[in-house]
Amino acid sequence: MCLICLEFEKESRRTMTIKEARRNFLEISSSLDEDHRQEVLDMLDRFEEEELMKDYYDWLFLDEAGSD
Ligand SMILES: [Zn+2]
Repeated sequence: MCLICLEFEKESRRTMTIKEARRNFLEISSSLDEDHRQEVLDMLDRFEEEELMKDYYDWLFLDEAGSD
């Protein structure tokens, strides 16, 4: 468990963006053990994918609603 996990556990109350988390990760990665480093990277990938999908759905919706 590290500050990135703590932050991302808050889910909707999360204040850290994935970009910030990745920057933080670079700073703290040397203090994490190898297993946890991989866990955090996997977690960030997952969140990033979710965010991309959300953006994509927003875009689809906007495209449909904004044709006028
Ligand atoms: Zn962690």
